[in-house]
Amino acid sequence: MPTETVYGLAADALDAQAVLRIFAAKGRPRFDPLIVHVAEVEQAWTVAQPSDRARRLAARFWPGPLTLVLPRRAVIPDVVTSGLETVGVRIPDHPLALALIRASGRPLAAPSANLFGRISPTTAEHVREQFASAVARVLDGGPCRVGVESTVVRPDPSPLILRPGGVTREQLEASLAEPVAIAERDARADHLPREAPGLLASHYAPRMPLSLREDGAPWPSDPTVARLAFSQAPPGAGPSEVLSPTGDLGIAAARLFAALRRLDATTATRMVAELVPETGLGQAINDRLRRAAGLG
Ligand code: AMP
Ligand code: MG
Repeated sequence: MPTETVYGLAADALDAQAVLRIFAAKGRPRFDPLIVHVAEVEQAWTVAQPSDRARRLAARFWPGPLTLVLPRRAVIPDVVTSGLETVGVRIPDHPLALALIRASGRPLAAPSANLFGRISPTTAEHVREQFASAVARVLDGGPCRVGVESTVVRPDPSPLILRPGGVTREQLEASLAEPVAIAERDARADHLPREAPGLLASHYAPRMPLSLREDGAPWPSDPTVARLAFSQAPPGAGPSEVLSPTGDLGIAAARLFAALRRLDATTATRMVAELVPETGLGQAINDRLRRAAGLG
């Protein structure tokens, strides 16, 4: 199903057998918990126990790219949460996703619709390329508006970003009127049974090896090196993509995964990417680029 972040591979979150088929189709390890998608705030509280902070964040950011990690209720099977006592839940901001959830009458567990560890899909075509006949149907909702995954937040006991994403730290702090921490990679693992691959180095990876351009270093100019730039086209030879000529981080986020895929489809043998400014959505973009480069 399309969402505003990326395309998701959806199953009835209350049906353990259905959820197991998601793990099988993706080749996803069982210790990586799934996000549960609902259509209404009240439906969220049937799978998770809200706190004051959770209610406030839900009222401000749902529907939208914010996942809340909250104590789970017993209706959620262990396989969804990888045995954790918490569950990640959100309301996606996409009419087709909301229609599917309402039509099914169920919360839907939906990780990104890509093979484990690979680049997330932001168009229906990306999903078809990776899954061919392995999924029943692809709902085509057009290109994803946000283009990076949801921000995963554990609101209590004090607000912590477990994964940067489509809602920025600045927006969260403004809404809660208190500081919001970003978990370091090592600290993130404390909140999970093992390191969840959504948080791991070497995720969101293209097929060709990707390295990050050193600050201010010249771009390689060689047909065997594909180049991913933020706002200024790299000079010289070799395939390249510019995420946003105007330097707009929202546009850069929306174009990131498709640009990585296009470069990955060239005859280059490796890729070099530059980081974007580390503010706003830049934190989510840089997080994905570092992981694509195998750096936590
Ligand atoms: P995705 O692959 O986009 O579906 O995102 C799933 C990611 O959400 C996981 O890899 C975790 O990083 C995070 N997540 C989901 N549920 C939880 C949870 N209960 N506790 C902590 N993180 C979670
Ligand atoms: Mg994913």
